[in-house]
Parts: sequence; C-alpha cells; structure tokens
Amino acid sequence: MKLLERELTYLQENHLYRRLNRMDDSQAARTVVNGKECLLLSSNNYLGLTEHPELKAAACEAVTRWGTGAGGSRLTTGNLQLHEELEKTIARFKKAEAAIVFNTGYMANLGGITALAGKNDVILSDELNHASIIDGCRLSRAETKIFPHKDTLALEKLLQQTQGYRRRLIVTDGVFSMDGDLAPLPRLVELAEKYRALLMVDDAHATGVLGRRGAGTADHFNLEGKIHVQMGTLSKAVGSAGGYIAGSRKLIDYLRNRARSFIFSTALPPAVIAAAIAAFRVIEQEPQIRENLWANAHYLKSGLKQTGFTILAEESPIIPIFIGDSGKTMQMAERLFARGVFAPGIRPPTVPPGTSRIRVTVMATHTREHLDRALSAFKQSGEELGII
Ligand SMILES: *Cc1c(COP(=O)(O)O)cnc(C)c1O
Repeated sequence: MKLLERELTYLQENHLYRRLNRMDDSQAARTVVNGKECLLLSSNNYLGLTEHPELKAAACEAVTRWGTGAGGSRLTTGNLQLHEELEKTIARFKKAEAAIVFNTGYMANLGGITALAGKNDVILSDELNHASIIDGCRLSRAETKIFPHKDTLALEKLLQQTQGYRRRLIVTDGVFSMDGDLAPLPRLVELAEKYRALLMVDDAHATGVLGRRGAGTADHFNLEGKIHVQMGTLSKAVGSAGGYIAGSRKLIDYLRNRARSFIFSTALPPAVIAAAIAAFRVIEQEPQIRENLWANAHYLKSGLKQTGFTILAEESPIIPIFIGDSGKTMQMAERLFARGVFAPGIRPPTVPPGTSRIRVTVMATHTREHLDRALSAFKQSGEELGII
C-alpha cells in the first residue's frame, strides 16, 4: 500500500492526478456538472441521441419484452434476436457483408486486433492511435511498428521492410480522438492493396458523423467496400453502448470464433441493443440532425478563430483549441467552467508536451444562443489569461 501512496503522490506532484467530474444530469446541451448548471461542450453524444424519444422508447420496450440482462455470452445463452438484428443493421449501414457487436469499442479493438495479428505478424500503427488500439497491439504479441502521424511515406517504407511477415495489419483511427483530424484513407487503401496488407479503421468518432449518410470515414472518402476491417463504437454518436466490427462474412465468422473479448464476456443487455437499433433508424431517417451538428461545428470554429484562438484541426466536430502550456490550459478550463462552460483541458501524457489544449466537441442539440454564450466565455477567459 506504501507503493500505491507513493505513486499517487507522484501523480499529484506532477499535475497528472485525475479526478472524476460528477454529472448530475443527462448528456443534454445544458446539464449539471459537480452541482453547477452549465453548457456541455465536451460530450461524444454528437447527435444528441441519448435524449432522443425513439431511443428511449426502444430501450424501455426492450426491458419489458426481454428483461434487463442477456444472461450469457453470445455463444451460450445470450444471443438474443436483438443482437442479430443490430448486426444486420450495422452491416447494411456500413455497406459490408456482415458485422459483429462487442460490449465496448475498447473490446472490439482488443478482440479484433488480437484475433487478426499474432506472433509471426506485424502491425503498422499510427502514433496517435487510440489507447484501445495500442492495448490490442500489445496483447496480440505481434511485432508493432509505429509510424509518424498520417505519414504515408514512412508507412510505405515500413511496408517495404516487412515483406517477410506472415500477415501485415495497418491500423488507424478514422477521426483522431484528441486532434479531430482525419486519417489519409485514400492513400492507406492504395498502400494496403499494393502491399497486400489488411487495413483496419477505427471509426469511433466518425460513425453517425462523417460522410453523406453518416456512415463514417469510408463514406466520407467514397471508399466503401475498400476497408477490410471497419471498427466503430455505439457509445458516441449512436447514443448507446457497445462496439462493432464490420467486414466480409469470412472475417466476421472468424472473429466470432477467435476474438476472446467477444467469446468470454456476457452479451450486452437488451435495452442497450434496442437503443442502438433505433439510433441507426434515426440516423438514416433524420439527416437534418447531422446537418445541425456540422452547422454548429462550423459556427463555433469560425467564431473561435475570429476571437483569435488557434484551432488545431477543422475536419470534424472535435475542436482542439491550442493553448500550449499545460498549467495555462487547466486554468482556462477552470475559468470556462466558472462561466458555465464544461470543456476539459487535455495535457500530457494524453497529448505531446507543449501541445496542451481545450478539447471542445459540439452537438447537434446546441442552439445558436448556447454557442454564442460559449464564445463569449472563451473570449473573456482567453483575454484574462493572455491567450488571445
Ligand atoms: C472512444 C473510443 C474507443 C472506445 O470505444 P468505447 O465504446 O468507448 O469503448 C475506441 N477508439 C476510439 C478512437 C475512441 O475514441
């Protein structure tokens, strides 16, 4: 226990200690955090679907019809009709032959990567990939080679150097979670084809958000059908919980047999699955929700830039506002919160030293009045701290 105490003291002394913020209300545009009413400007609930009446009704009906728990893993007694319906829905949405649902996006990456790459294989991974990809690579026991962020020249070099391996897996976030920029998908698809490697894309922040149909980065780049392993989550824009992988029938069949995080965990409960099915219906039938999201993102970005802030990337509803110094970033977050805006500071080790930032995410459910209020809080706090 002495060891734990020492470790905690170290974290505190180095400003790395993490504390939980308590949500006292739902993931709506206006909510209550740590007892204080504020504007929620950092939720992954991009489309506001956690509040959508159709999702809520579907979840309630599922509890009435199917009960509260799945009772077993998918391969034992937990494979409800609902799970199969959701997988068919995802496959259709992603224009893939089949899909498999995991309990979280984290588990989809862990299970997917460890099933697809082993001892004699090599994984080529973008340096800014999500922690769940990094953990999947570690657990796989495959050789893992990291390429500089979005550097397809470096990736090609690695592909040339790794011809001797049994299988090569290129893995990347579709939308990078801390920077909000997009993977160079067209080039990655070409390289995967040229060097006969598998390409896996994590669309956690793209599902429901990017592309004409909201189907993700492949939809955005017109590359549907070109990505072998399309991973995503049901916990962000989809407004529920769970993760998925979509791809060929053979791939999904293989994962059902080999992905340990799928095999050895109890299936997701009925309410969660029913809410996700309803979400895909809403995403298809109410495209104006996604249009609102993008209009809000553009409005806030241009307002912040006019105010004098530096936005690190402008390709998604994730808006990283560059501050630099980590102490100043945390002060900025505190002042924003004091003015009723909840947007956290992101600092090392989550991002490289000297690149601390406020990470804002917009939602479809923010009104112009909300965003104007946020802009004025940013302006006042930024001026006070000498950032703008
Ligand atoms: C959130 C996230 C995940 C994990 O998904 P969960 O469903 O929250 O477990 C995986 N990859 C990326 C890029 C993410 O942002």
